[in-house]
Amino acid sequence: MSEKTIPYKIYLEENEMPKQWYNVRADMKNKPAPLLNPATLQPMAYEDLRPVFCDELIRQELDDVTPYIDIPQEIQDFYKMYRPSPLVRAYCLEKKLDTPAKIYYKFEGNNTSGSHKLNSAIAQAYYAKQQGLKGVTTETGAGQWGTALSMACAYFELDCRVYMVKVSYEQKPFRREVMRTYGASVTPSPSETTAVGRKILAAHPGTTGSLGCAISEAVEAATSMEGYRYVLGSVLNQVLLHQTVIGLETKVALDKYDIVPDIIIGCAGGGSNLGGLISPFMGEVLRGEKNYRFIAVEPASCPSLTRGRFAYDFCDTGMVCPLAKMYTLGSGFIPSANHAGGLRYHGMSSILSQLYHDGLMEAVAVEQTSVFQAAEQFARVEGILPAPESSHAIKVAIDEAMKCKETGEEKTIVFGLTGTGYFDMTAYEKFNDGKMSDYIPTDEDLQAGFDGIPRFQGNEF
Ligand SMILES: *Cc1c(COP(=O)(O)O)cnc(C)c1O
Repeated sequence: MSEKTIPYKIYLEENEMPKQWYNVRADMKNKPAPLLNPATLQPMAYEDLRPVFCDELIRQELDDVTPYIDIPQEIQDFYKMYRPSPLVRAYCLEKKLDTPAKIYYKFEGNNTSGSHKLNSAIAQAYYAKQQGLKGVTTETGAGQWGTALSMACAYFELDCRVYMVKVSYEQKPFRREVMRTYGASVTPSPSETTAVGRKILAAHPGTTGSLGCAISEAVEAATSMEGYRYVLGSVLNQVLLHQTVIGLETKVALDKYDIVPDIIIGCAGGGSNLGGLISPFMGEVLRGEKNYRFIAVEPASCPSLTRGRFAYDFCDTGMVCPLAKMYTLGSGFIPSANHAGGLRYHGMSSILSQLYHDGLMEAVAVEQTSVFQAAEQFARVEGILPAPESSHAIKVAIDEAMKCKETGEEKTIVFGLTGTGYFDMTAYEKFNDGKMSDYIPTDEDLQAGFDGIPRFQGNEF
């Protein structure tokens, strides 16, 4: 450690911001498995994906070899409106915990969408515009992705159609209105507007929906309208690639002060923020240059890494999407209704799944009341009201800092603080009223999900 005093916030100059995204797949010995066509079980080729995704995004999705990919100037310029995001030294939290650990967090909540999702939304909207498309469709769960995409589409004057998980549509009317203010149309999912939505409603009358259902509807809408494509806010390789702007900025900021992290922690829903944060550091590990501990934090009620199967599975409930090899709870898995903390997707990024499978990353599952306790503690000393999703990372960062207190080790901990929780006050209300409980699925509950994973030769799990 140098003698330089480390400020509360490490900002970058505009000219220090990344001009390229980093594609960690280029440095992976074991590449993530390719997407498969569910009908033929053959890898999806560029042409197969064209009806669904934007052309340039497919190239990024399939590119396992190019380590650095230029960020187009227009995207760099948009990034400058709300980036670089600060890397904050959590001096106040360290003091409160009385730990010798040094804690840093990269805060992605400083934009109207309130999360890191804008980093990929603006890239995806840019490529859709470049291709001359009229618009894009997508799903949104808690609403952060839909909000980010509607902002990006407004900027490029693209039509934006969002299928919002019905329970969120009803519980988070303000999210919906933000999206509509940016010009998006928002449909509660499952809906009667698509064949797959009608099918799901017939099979599960009164269902409050899931991300997997909303994905199916959004894909159907995109492929049945001229000039539209489907875009996704997490899970895919392309999204993780765009999110590496988080990790690249973090690395420049740390390097400025000769700070070397010991542990890097992030919450994991579909894996995009965590993948984006750790990619540049993972690259160093993969190239044999450095060693770090990486910890993925997931909810105990939706434990895809810690209790899921590593297998080819559908990305959506309606089984209209390609098969991805990933840690999965089964595409039919729907987390318990008492789960309030986000990160409810049944699968996980193929990249992170492979890295985890190869022992390069750890994962822990945490219960939601402990997550909200950590959120409250953090909010009271660091000032920021964190998103429940982000609070999973806070929880484990605090746990690691407390271990340092026991051992006296001065470890450096970096975690991703993905967003703010202003639209999550129903969940906070439950917590404040003492009405929040923990739910951990039983092995039998999980088995029901695993039974839905497709079985074919080569997909043993
Ligand atoms: C969407 C979201 C996440 C989880 O998504 P990942 O793709 O796993 O990063 C985490 N935090 C916030 C605030 C989000 O909006």
